[in-house]
Amino acid sequence: MSPAPDKALAFDGLPPLREVVRTHGLMAMKSLGQNFLFDLNLTGRIARAAGPLEGVTVVEVGPGPGGLTRALLAHGAAQVVAIERDQRCLAALAEIAAHYPGRLTVIEGDALEADVTPYLGKGPARIVANLPYNVATPLLVGWLTASPWPSWWDSLTLMFQREVAERIVAGPSKPKDYGRLAVLAGWRTEASILFDVPGSAFVPPPKVTSSIVRLVPRAAPLPCATRALEVVAQAAFGQRRKMLRQSLKSLGVDPMALLEPAGIAPTARAEEVPVAGFIAMANAYAGLT
Ligand code: SAM
Repeated sequence: MSPAPDKALAFDGLPPLREVVRTHGLMAMKSLGQNFLFDLNLTGRIARAAGPLEGVTVVEVGPGPGGLTRALLAHGAAQVVAIERDQRCLAALAEIAAHYPGRLTVIEGDALEADVTPYLGKGPARIVANLPYNVATPLLVGWLTASPWPSWWDSLTLMFQREVAERIVAGPSKPKDYGRLAVLAGWRTEASILFDVPGSAFVPPPKVTSSIVRLVPRAAPLPCATRALEVVAQAAFGQRRKMLRQSLKSLGVDPMALLEPAGIAPTARAEEVPVAGFIAMANAYAGLT
């Protein structure tokens, strides 16, 4: 006789995620950006999108009930270091850790503040996550502006709301989406959208489509002062309809002192300037301040 459907085990010998959520009372909380993935085929596809995982340490932000965590472990990650803010998830994660002895470390805390570097192994490390949408952008900016560079990770494979994903991969040919995030991402990484995930794949389903974005560090990004790049991009895109000779005045320096050395027309608008132009302006700005 086969077991009752909700008692059947998943491919990895652990209970199905719906049962895990029920057993541990993990009702999704909006304040923590909780939209869980229950489909282990989908979490497997995300794990595969991160490339071969043998010998790799994967850092996962927000494992929740552990759907993606399980896929990462089943696809061969040497170890997963998972940072989770919701204490309610810890018991469910402990069951996964027991199933994969020595391969899952759970850090209870805020990923915006946690330092994972003491937990990394000798091999390569990458970040893979279905990010909580309310802290997804500050987390990405933190990873992109890290010092020293190259950072400890060799790729990022991340779920964002589709609209944010488009803002990460945009260039001047997509003026509506091109902004500070694309400049930071384009400076140090090559970013691309791999595939979309419909809202119906999540519990509870968000109103919007999501996308998996992969970011791979550039071998030799143009040298640039990180803070200056952030500040210049913020000033330029903060008033994106204005010409740069006007919008850059908010920096408190003569805009021409940035535009001239960068070879950018004073009448240009932020959305027309490629990443290399922002880097040139940021380097000129850093020399003035
Ligand atoms: N990985 C799970 C999945 O795919 O089903 C859950 C993803 S859910 C979109 C986001 C997860 O991030 C939740 O488990 C939530 O509790 C956690 N979280 C929210 N804010 C966090 C933070 N600042 N630091 C660490 N985890 C956080």
